[in-house]
Amino acid sequence: MSIPGKTDARRPAAFLDRDGVLNVDHGYVHRPEQLEWIDGAREAVSLLNLAGYFVLIISNQSGIARGYHDEAAVKSFHAYMQNELAALGAHIDAFYFCPHHPEGSIKSLAVSCRCRKPAPGMLEQAAREWPIDIGASFLIGDKDDDMAAAAAFNIRGIKFNSLKDSLPDLVRREIANYSQNRRQT
Ligand SMILES: [Mg+2]
Ligand SMILES: [Zn+2]
Repeated sequence: MSIPGKTDARRPAAFLDRDGVLNVDHGYVHRPEQLEWIDGAREAVSLLNLAGYFVLIISNQSGIARGYHDEAAVKSFHAYMQNELAALGAHIDAFYFCPHHPEGSIKSLAVSCRCRKPAPGMLEQAAREWPIDIGASFLIGDKDDDMAAAAAFNIRGIKFNSLKDSLPDLVRREIANYSQNRRQT
């Protein structure tokens, strides 16, 4: 099931929204005790790791601009997620998050930025930092803004509803499609 051949430097990326895809969206989640994994989310990350995808989190975190918590809290929350994944041999390659919001209370962060979804700035940054096969990449998110960011970056957006959909099933389907396309070309 491993995807890239040895000669391929580029690998596809699975861009994942965080809240509502990996963890239950309780609103401005940033403390370890608020982490409630969505069923199958860790398994889905592991499947993507094994298939050779970059797993990149693309997350709006306007709680920072709003002054609800600081950036350090978000980073340590992500480290905590990473630790829990490591227990299963899974990992996220990088976390990208936007700390801004036009109506934030922290002046320096109360801006209209290029990173807050629906803008594609975080995806563009990830593409500069990783050797991504963009044409084979996709984004999974639970909101229209996620789909708009994917569209602005010209990759497929997959709308995920944690109450109905299984993330591991969805990811298995993507991996199978990708393997099949590669065999045909
Ligand atoms: Mg979300
Ligand atoms: Zn931003």
